[in-house]
Amino acid sequence: MKIVRFSTSSKTQYGILEGTSVNGLKTSPFEDGWNINNLKLDGSNYTLDKITLLTPCVPGKYIGIGINYKSSVIKSGRPAPETPIIFYKPPTAVIGTGAEIIFPLEQDAEVVYEGELGVVIGKKCKKVKQEDALIHVLGYTCANDVTDRIKFKVDKGNDVRAKGADTFGPIGPCISTDIDPGNVEIRTWLNGELRQQGNSSDMIFNVPFLIAYLSNFMTLLPGDVIATGTPAGNIMPVQPGDVVKVEIEGIGTLENTFVSHR
Ligand code: MG
Repeated sequence: MKIVRFSTSSKTQYGILEGTSVNGLKTSPFEDGWNINNLKLDGSNYTLDKITLLTPCVPGKYIGIGINYKSSVIKSGRPAPETPIIFYKPPTAVIGTGAEIIFPLEQDAEVVYEGELGVVIGKKCKKVKQEDALIHVLGYTCANDVTDRIKFKVDKGNDVRAKGADTFGPIGPCISTDIDPGNVEIRTWLNGELRQQGNSSDMIFNVPFLIAYLSNFMTLLPGDVIATGTPAGNIMPVQPGDVVKVEIEGIGTLENTFVSHR
């Protein structure tokens, strides 16, 4: 099942995506007691060209994981982290597919894309074990962990400015409930050229581990997102006008264009 959040001229709601058609849902899939089999349709139906897709959830927390692919560790020559490297993006960074990523005002910005598998929490979880972790997940989405490398260097690794700027957290286009987070292909395209390709099986810390690790000290709530790190690739600085697509099999494609600061 693919869950989307969308707006029409009159309202915003959740729906189920099938091909190019969306059936409206009566309620939010994140309501307490959520059960995937109990989702009720409201009888409305739209084609994708008649609606605007929004972020598929509204995360209270967007947690990012740094350096989490063996391929990226090998490429960099640095040692693998012994525990997950964690960062945050504020809710104001989060945008959906089709929305514009606003390039920083500073001339010396060096902005890059990072295609990642995003985990969408469906049920509140606190101190869960790895073996119980995935029952708290509603599904998975594509994430683009947009980063300004210059600010990361200038701020000496403090990544609030580098990763937390407005629009630096695209997620979407949907939440897919049916994929295996331990084995999906992730591809990132810059202006139609393949720049990153990897499989989630190459993660250093897999999804159940990350949920157990995070929930041990931080309660994860419905709608929270974990961006699980980016595979190695040819990650180049972008410019206004560039188009980045993050494609994950079984989910779809998250597409965003960079635009100049206004
Ligand atoms: Mg990243």
